[in-house]
Amino acid sequence: MKIEIIKCLKDNYAYLIIDEKNQTACVVDPSEAKPVINFVEKNKINLKYILNTHHHYDHVGGNFELKKKYNCNVIGFIGDKDRIPEIDIFVEDNQIWKEDNFEAKIYHIPGHTTGHIAYHFFKEKKIFTGDTLFSLGCGRIFEGTYEQMFSSLNRIKELPKETEIYCGHEYTLENSNFCLANDSKNLKLKDKIVKIKKKLKNNLPTIPTTLNDEIECNVFLKAKDIMNFSKLRDLKDNF
Ligand code: ZN
Ligand code: FE
Repeated sequence: MKIEIIKCLKDNYAYLIIDEKNQTACVVDPSEAKPVINFVEKNKINLKYILNTHHHYDHVGGNFELKKKYNCNVIGFIGDKDRIPEIDIFVEDNQIWKEDNFEAKIYHIPGHTTGHIAYHFFKEKKIFTGDTLFSLGCGRIFEGTYEQMFSSLNRIKELPKETEIYCGHEYTLENSNFCLANDSKNLKLKDKIVKIKKKLKNNLPTIPTTLNDEIECNVFLKAKDIMNFSKLRDLKDNF
């Protein structure tokens, strides 16, 4: 299974999960269709599934056009069946979604939105976290509660440390400033920031990150309790 990172809009990432044995693929959160179509056409890939983490336009914007062109199935959380465009297949918490050689466990992780989910490709140790867990940050709480977001992040934290994290946006550098301001003695964080800057300088994504890196460097994952977490989330909103 190969992951291809597709830049969309200003700072979004869509991800193609490609089964190289038969050149079939899923796309996670296509913000827009065009960059996905470009890649798929150029590499003669059969796009079969659209996996949406949540209903925001910058994650589902390409659903209609991609489905029309490739007749792919759109997968999303059952609770969001009325607001994910073109949805065909409803999934729920802890379900295993399996089609062709693709197999992922669904985690319902509310907070950013009430219906947000993550797709954990457990055999490949990769998780697609949308706007819940970012590298060095977490999503804004739009529809859920602090408690929900905190427990959603804690569920992700339980996964194997070597798990690769693919999130919805390139916010890493901006997030790193907030982490540094709140955890200024963290040498692992400083080390990661050097690597982040180097990647961005070479016009490369800072994604994927690893769960291990995030546990060591992301202040939101280091929060001890809900009070501490809520305070950090409020500070970040005004940073
Ligand atoms: Zn969002
Ligand atoms: Fe987003």
